[in-house]
Formats: sequence, C-alpha cells, structure tokens
Amino acid sequence: MAYTATKEEEAKELARRYKDLLKGTYQELSNKDKASIRKAFELAVEAHKPQRRKTGEPYIYHPIAVAKIVADEIGLGAISITAALLHDVVEDTDYTIEDIEQLFGETVARIVNGLTKISHLKKDDASVQAENYRKMLLTLNDDVRVILIKIADRYHNMQTLDAMPAHKQTRIASETLFIYAPLAHRLGLYTIKTELEDLGLKYTEPEVYYDIAKRIKDTKEQRDNYIDEFSSIIYKSLQDEKFDFEIKGRTKSIFSIRKKMLKQGVDFDEVYDKFAIRIIFKPQSHDEKHDAWKIYSIVTDHFTPNPIRLRDWMTQPKSTGYEALHTTVMGPKGKWVEVQIRSDRMNEIAEKGYAAHYKYKHGSEKETGLENWLNKIKDALENTEANAVDFVENVKLNLYSKEIYTFTPNGDIKSLPKGATPIDFAYAVHTDVGSKCRGAKVNGKIVPLSKELKSGDQVEIITSNGQKPKLAWLDYAVTSRARSKIKNALKEEQKKLGEEGKEILHRKLKTLKVKFNEKTINELVNFFKLKTSLDLFYRIGNGSISNTDLKNYANQRSNSFTALFKGKRRKKTDPENHTNEVTQKFDLLVFGKDEETLPYINAKCCNPIPGDKVFGFITINEGIKVHRVDCPNAVSLRANYGYRTLKAKWIDSTQREFKINIMVSGIDNVGIVNDVTLVISNAMNVNIQRINIDSEDGYFEGHIRVSVKNIEQLNKLISSLKSIDGVMKVEREKESKK
Ligand code: MN
Repeated sequence: MAYTATKEEEAKELARRYKDLLKGTYQELSNKDKASIRKAFELAVEAHKPQRRKTGEPYIYHPIAVAKIVADEIGLGAISITAALLHDVVEDTDYTIEDIEQLFGETVARIVNGLTKISHLKKDDASVQAENYRKMLLTLNDDVRVILIKIADRYHNMQTLDAMPAHKQTRIASETLFIYAPLAHRLGLYTIKTELEDLGLKYTEPEVYYDIAKRIKDTKEQRDNYIDEFSSIIYKSLQDEKFDFEIKGRTKSIFSIRKKMLKQGVDFDEVYDKFAIRIIFKPQSHDEKHDAWKIYSIVTDHFTPNPIRLRDWMTQPKSTGYEALHTTVMGPKGKWVEVQIRSDRMNEIAEKGYAAHYKYKHGSEKETGLENWLNKIKDALENTEANAVDFVENVKLNLYSKEIYTFTPNGDIKSLPKGATPIDFAYAVHTDVGSKCRGAKVNGKIVPLSKELKSGDQVEIITSNGQKPKLAWLDYAVTSRARSKIKNALKEEQKKLGEEGKEILHRKLKTLKVKFNEKTINELVNFFKLKTSLDLFYRIGNGSISNTDLKNYANQRSNSFTALFKGKRRKKTDPENHTNEVTQKFDLLVFGKDEETLPYINAKCCNPIPGDKVFGFITINEGIKVHRVDCPNAVSLRANYGYRTLKAKWIDSTQREFKINIMVSGIDNVGIVNDVTLVISNAMNVNIQRINIDSEDGYFEGHIRVSVKNIEQLNKLISSLKSIDGVMKVEREKESKK
C-alpha cells in the first residue's frame, strides 16, 4: 500500500499521535514532566523533518511510537519518554550529545548517548556483533532505562519490518530472537517478549508461523467454549465469596507452541490440547496471598489438582519479579488445565515487569530479584577482558534459564540457574569462597563439585587457603559470574607460569647450547605447532613441554633445515608482542571421566569438528560414533539409550593430563600424610585425585592417584616423595583397581 498524505493531513496526524502519547502513560506526569516531553517532541519534529521512514511516512512517527511503548507498555516516566523521543536525534541529525545535555540535562543526555552507542552496530561479522551486544549489556551498568528504550525501539521496528527489504528482515528478526527477546524476558516484559518472539518467527520461518497462526484461528471457537465451560463452574463459588475477579483464557504464543513442538517432538494438536486460564482478583483484605490461597481452595473444590504441579511464586518470586500462584487441575472432559491466580498488582508486574516493580516498591521492602540479577550482570561486566562471544553466550544462558533456590548453612537463599553446581554456589556466596573452594557438602553429605544442585538443597562449601581455581571447573560451572572469575584467575595463573616458563626455557636452551633469541622462539613455536610465544612459555612453565621434547627440537635443528624452512612459511611470532591469552587448541578427543583416547568415527548426521560439544554413542557394529550435543538425533539417543552414551570432549593434546597410581610405604610417623600431600601439591601442576593411607603398627602404606602431564613430571614427583623422612618405597602401580 503506497503512502499518500497531504501536508495538512500529516500535521493533523502528528498532533493526534502526540496527544495519544500523553494520554496513555502508566505513570502520572507532572506539569514539569509534560513541559520536558513537549520540548523533546518539538526538537525531534524539527530535527527529523527532512527524513522519511521506508514506508514513506514522516520519520518522527517512529520516535513517537517508541515513546508510546516506553510510556504505556513498559510504563516508564518522563525522563525515559523524553529520551525515547530523542533517541535517534544524535544518530541521524546534526544535534550533538552536548546539545541534548544543555537542553534536557545530564540524565536524558546520558541515556540518549547510551542509545546512540548501541545503534552503531552495523557489521555482520559474528564477533563484531557479539562485541556490540556486550557494549549494549554494558549500558546496564549505567542505566537500565537505556536497554528498556532500546527494546521499545526494536519492538517498533519489528512491528514495521514489512517495509524493509527481505535480507534485512531476516537479519533483524534473527537478532531480535537472539538477544532482544531474551533480554525482554529477563527484565520481566512478558508481553513485549512474546510479541518479539512471534514477530521474530514470522520473519525467520514464515511458513511455520502462518501455519500455526491458522491452526490457532481454526480451533479458537472450540477452545473458547471449553474455557467458558470451565469458568462457569467456578464463577458462582467465587462470587459467593464476594471476590472481585476476572477469568481469562490464556492463549499460548505462536513461538512458544513452535518451541514445544520441537522440544517434545509432538504436533500442534498435542501442544494445543493443554489449556490455561488466569484468575485476576482485587484483594479483599490486606493479605493478597491469603486471598490467592482462598481462590485456590475454591478451584480445587471443583477440580482435582495435580499435586506435583503446584507453584507458589508469591512466597518466593521469580528473579524477574514475577509473582503468582500456579496449579494444574483436571478440568471437564479429562483435560489438564493450568490455573494462574494473581492479584491485580501481581498481574501488573507480570505484564510490565520493571516499571510496576518500581511503582510498588517501598523503601523497606526486600531486595527484588531483578536488582539481584542486575548486580550479577554487573559482576560479569567487571570482567572486561572476557571474550565477547563467550560473554554474550554466558549472559544469554542466564537470561533464559530456569531457576533453582538453594540455601546456605545459615538458611540464606541463593537463587541459581538450573544446572548450577557447588562451584556456582561458592562463587555466588563470595569470590573468595569460590576461588578457595575445595569441596562441598549438600544436605550434609560430601559431593563432587560437579554435582548438579536441586531446589531446596542446603549447600556448605569447604574452603582451603591452598586451593586455586582449576581449568576443570569450567566443565561444570554454569553461571557467568563463576565462569568469568575462574577464567580470570586461570589467565593470571597462565601469565605467571608463562613468566616462569620463559626463565626455565632460557636455562634449558643454555644446556642444549641453543641461543635464546627471537628466531629460536619462532622455531620452537612452530615446532610445537603453537600460535604465540606465550603458548610456548606457558607450556614449558607448566611442564607439558618436557626436556625430551626440547631435546628433540635441538636434534632436529642441528640435523636439518626443514624446521627453519617451515618456520619461514608460518606466520612470524614476535615474542614481546604476543596476545595475553594462551590459545586453546582442540586436537584430541577423549572419552569418559578418565579422558581416555579411544578409536571412533564421526557421525554423518551432524559431522562434529574439533571444539564442538560432543558425546560418544556406542553402536552395535561400528564402534563409537561421535555426535554433536545439538545433533537432531542427540535427544532421542540420549533419552532411549542413555547407557550407551559416553562423555566425550575435545582437549588440547599439549595440555593433556595422565592419571597415575602411586604406592608409597614406609615407617609411620606423626604428620606423614601431611608431608606426602605437601610434596605433591608443591610439585608444579600435579593434582591429587585420590589419596588413601593406612597405617598399622608403625608401618604405613599409601595409594595415591595423581594427574601429571608427562613422565618427567612423574619421575620428579617420585624422587621428591622418596626424599621424605620415613618413606622407604615409592612405586608406580599398574592400572588395575578402578
Ligand atoms: Mn530508532
């Protein structure tokens, strides 16, 4: 439809839209507020005057629409409405941030500045993109209103996406699904989140979208009838109790139906055969919780509840701030119906999220989950060195994840994402508790640090001053807070080891009569197939490049020029100018807890490559097949043949560890266990996996399992153990007892 409007019509329409904006605000506006909004409106009209939207409409319709969403649907106040009207002014016109600051003050200018920075994301490169998202999330640190207005901006752009060329539609829609919908979800903007998801699906998978939309329409009458039937049964009882209430059927969004269909591998009818209704009431008393339970009791007088489907989000709200009482009951015709019971206040929070919270929050009230969450994000943001892709992935994980509630020994609640382990818990308590975490007790029992926590678990962290964060922790830490703290600590450790390694290399080359200079370092980096000099120094520091390896290099060097020749063809590395990160290689696939290498083949259905998250599947005729974790077949393989799957992961072969059993025996004396453990933990990068010492009549025998990088490390360890006073025999044991 082509856009046609005369100047007069446009002026009229503009006035109408402006009036409409002021009419629908969620928060009450003072005269001063209105003056500021008016000023912003006039400036924006003036500034955007020459611009048109892709539809042909005046550009100013867009900022007004965004301001309307901000004022009405998100429910923010005058400062945000002003900033929303101005959000594209600095980006698109001659006005500067300084102008805005002068005219509207520091806060509005800061928000507009934040919004201008975010909109500078134009590149398609994934890592540039990720960096942009990171910048966007960083603005959370300044003012959460920036993100809220940005979401409103995106929401309006999605509503008007039809005017864009097709390739842009797909890109914008994917980006919306990737980051904006999860953000809206996490900030409690349920209505907007749902709309963003549906619109996202409409432009990324139009056939799916229209197909589901049509089926919803076709079944609407039938569904409405069922809801009416259900409602009529409880209606009278609620009225008898003098409740002021409303019953609504809750329609599932197209996107969520699609998600369920994919996740459960079922078709539309199966997903859609589940009904949900919402009862929204005005509290009768000061105790809305009490009222909610009263309604629950009325509902369950008529319908049998499913006892395992009761969720009390009133006593412990979700960290988005969501409050309600959910139950599932057996409705007419033997169908399960989810019933959500909310006061009007709870309903407002459910729809508006942040702003409603703000409105209802009083000084003395408990900290809300949202603030907790914002603090968590801020924590993660402190770690500015983190790789942007990782960072966004982590934050995203935390955006959508389900939550569990766990307790400290004192009974304090720590909310964590589903899948969290004691390591996450430890870091949630305090960074120091995390980094010194040695073990954990869950409900009084010692558990491995990799154990997945459940809601209601009481967790006690055992710390020790000698403990340091370990690489393996990254295998089971899931919160971005824990992961970034661990990574930072490891990086520090790597730097330190790198410096030590450089010294060691200097000495060792001297004995091998090789000069320590840039050329040699480059040759070594190439010889060991590494990327940077820091990689080299680090691996020498931690012992994974052994004396024998260095000797091999020296021999090859004197024997031929090949190494040199190869060295020239590779990229040069400058020892002083390396990146400050040790690069990870993924060149070896290992299986099981003991990280064994086994023969395997790659599954054809998903073709995993080094670095992918994978698992092994033991086939009848073809040995182990390796699938990606996100392979379409993975879910059913794991569900139906769990016993035939095998943990697998890609590792860096130069950093591989071997698990070795050692037997130590001798004359028992006070403190022998201490001496033995001290020697092991002082040995560079040797970890104790298990230790078991028995003593009888002055004689002791110990079995120790350690992980080492190579035979030299092991020999060194054995000779140190032998030098302990009282130790008489140290032997490597055959791999027998598992
Ligand atoms: Mn905009």
